[in-house]
Amino acid sequence: MKIYKLDAIVLKSRDMREADKILTVYSIQRGKQRIVAHGAAKPNSRKRGAVQPFCFSEFMLHRGREIDAISQAELKEGFAEIRYDLDRLTAAAYITELLDGFVAEGEPNQNLFSLLYSALHLIAVGNSEMILRGFEAKLLGFSGLQPDLTNCSVCGAEIRETKVSFAVQQGGILCKDCATHEKRILKFSRGTVEVLKTLYRWELTKLQQLKVSEPLKTELSALLRSYIEYYLEKKLKTTEFMDRLYKSNLGRGTNI
Ligand SMILES: [Zn+2]
Repeated sequence: MKIYKLDAIVLKSRDMREADKILTVYSIQRGKQRIVAHGAAKPNSRKRGAVQPFCFSEFMLHRGREIDAISQAELKEGFAEIRYDLDRLTAAAYITELLDGFVAEGEPNQNLFSLLYSALHLIAVGNSEMILRGFEAKLLGFSGLQPDLTNCSVCGAEIRETKVSFAVQQGGILCKDCATHEKRILKFSRGTVEVLKTLYRWELTKLQQLKVSEPLKTELSALLRSYIEYYLEKKLKTTEFMDRLYKSNLGRGTNI
């Protein structure tokens, strides 16, 4: 098979020499993959509209020696609303960077594709905070890292405390006794753990209806972030950007 089709979302796009673009895409058929779009940076390129980050496009590709190349590209959905709003753009950049960080090449997953697709839809219409938390939680789940939130991750005891200890190394909550032996413990209120459980139970589309208080939102964001950074072993570029953006713009009420 020298020519094949991909239905893919563009995660990122990088300009190369001679107006070429290297794209990292996530497709229904093949999962994450790097492909080249020859000449796509030229102003009159017909591929141009379909190769921007966050675009959902149909690509026809031919096999190359090192990297497969796009011969035809047709835009299916451009999520234009994302590009005209800094909050939405930042949120979309964050989820695509996150997915890129967690997923290896060549491992297709229909559910993960659907998660990304519906997250972009929801971000395009705004109000993205709980969508981002839901995306983080579900992505961790797809990566086999869904935290244990009912029983102690070490001894299995049922947890009843109002302040709950979370150990990123253990991937879950700990009882009082086990928490005393762990070095890196994060303390959270029970409410935050309950919200996190809801993120796993509910569909992403429903999460905008979830009412969460500001203190719990802050805790939830911190909990997921420490867990994500522990597994990725790095800070994401977009997270650093978001921190700078929202610290310099206090009172905006956005905590993504
Ligand atoms: Zn225990």
